Amino acid sequence: MIEDRNTFIVRCGEVALKGLNKPYFERMLVDRIKRALKKYPGIEVKRNEGLIFVRAQKEFDADLIVGDISRVFGVASISPAVETVSDMDEIGQAAVEYMLRLIEKKGVKTFKVDAKRADKNFPVKSPDIAKTIGAKVLIGCKVLKVDVHNPDCLLFVDVRKDKSYIYEQKISGFGGLPLGTNGKGMILLSGGIDSPVAAWLMAKRGMLIEAVHFHSYPYTSERAREKVVDLAGIVAGYCGRFKMHVINLLPIQELIVQNCPEEETTILVRRFMMKIAEKVAQETDCCMLITGENLGQVASQTAEALVVTDQSVQMPVMRPLIAMDKVDIMDIAKNIGTFETSILPYEDCCTVFLPKHPATKPKLAKILVSESRLEVEQLVADAVASKETITIYPAE
Ligand code: ATP
Ligand code: MG
Repeated sequence: MIEDRNTFIVRCGEVALKGLNKPYFERMLVDRIKRALKKYPGIEVKRNEGLIFVRAQKEFDADLIVGDISRVFGVASISPAVETVSDMDEIGQAAVEYMLRLIEKKGVKTFKVDAKRADKNFPVKSPDIAKTIGAKVLIGCKVLKVDVHNPDCLLFVDVRKDKSYIYEQKISGFGGLPLGTNGKGMILLSGGIDSPVAAWLMAKRGMLIEAVHFHSYPYTSERAREKVVDLAGIVAGYCGRFKMHVINLLPIQELIVQNCPEEETTILVRRFMMKIAEKVAQETDCCMLITGENLGQVASQTAEALVVTDQSVQMPVMRPLIAMDKVDIMDIAKNIGTFETSILPYEDCCTVFLPKHPATKPKLAKILVSESRLEVEQLVADAVASKETITIYPAE
C-alpha cells in the first residue's frame, strides 16, 4: 500500500563524513530542515541510519518542499520516495503503483530496478530483490519494458529494517555544513555581484551571517539601498533572517577627499570600511570579517592593496572569492538567484569620489601618514554610533 503522506529521503553531504561529532552535525541539520519547513504544519523530520526522513501531508506541494529542503546547507541530495513495509509483496505492489503513476506523468516506457538491502537480515539478497520487483512491475505495468543500459526510469528500491523506500530521482542540494556549526561572520555587503556570493559561500560552510552596508547618501540613492536590502533578502533565503547594519560613509569620504592624496582615496576608504566593520563585528559577536574581494579584479584588489587593507584590522578577514574567475562567481550568483538584482544599475558608495588614477601598489607607511591627518578613531566610533540596524527576512 502506498502511504497517505509524502516521504522525502534526505542525504547528508559532508556531515556524513564527520567522526565523533557526527550526531551533533546531524542534529543541527535536522533542526535547520525543521526550520526551513515550519510553514507546513504537521511535518515530521527524523534521522535514522545516517539518513534524514521528512514526512509531510499529501496536501502540501512536494516540489515546493523539495525546493525548501534543497536550500538547507548540509543537504547533499533529496529523493521524493514512497514508503512501504519491508515485505516483498508490499514492496512489489508499491512499485507497481509508483510506476503506473510515472507512466501517466512522464510517459516512461523502460525501466531498470536498482535494489539495495541496508538491512542485512532481510531474507532476500539485493540482486534477487531487483529481479523479483522487476518481474512484478512488468506484470503490473504492461506497457513497460526492461532496459538495463539506458532506462527512462532507474527505479531505486531501498530495503531497510522497518520500512522500505521506492524512488527514482536524486535531486542535488548544495552540500556544505548546517548553519550555526561554524560561528558568525560579518559580511561587508555591497550591491555588487561578489559580496552576496561571498556571504553565501561562508554560510554554506555553516557560518551564521551578519552584514554591514555602507552608502553615501545623498550621493547614493534610496533605490541603491533598497537594492542591497533585496539582495540581502535573497541571501537570507539560504542563511535565514539576519541583521544588517547600514552606515553612511559620506562624512568620512569627504574628509579623505579634502585631506589626503587623491590616488589614495580608494584604499583609505576601504581601510575605514574594514575598521568600522570590525568594531560592529566585535559588538555583535562576529569572529571574522568577510568580503567579496578577488585578487586583481580592480585597483583596490591588487596583492599590495589587499595587504594594506588587511593591515587596517586585527580581526581575520575571509575572502572566499579570492582566487576565483569572474565567470565562475557569476555562475554561482545566477545559480543562487542574486545575479539579476546585482546587475541593476544603481551606484555604490565606492563609485563616489573615485580617483582618476588609484594607487595600485599602496605602501602602508605612506597610507598611515595620510591617515594621521584624520581623527581615525573618533571617525570610526562616530560611524559605528550612527549605524541603523535592520532585520533582513528571507525573500518570498
Ligand atoms: P561587489 O561585486 O561585491 O560590489 P566589487 O567587485 O564591486 O564587489 P569593490 O567595490 O571593490 O568590489 O568591493 C570589494 C568588497 O568590498 C566587496 O565585495 C564588499 O565586500 C566590500 N564593499 C564594497 N562596497 C561596499 C559597500 N558599499 N558596503 C559594504 N561593503 C562594501
Ligand atoms: Mg562593489
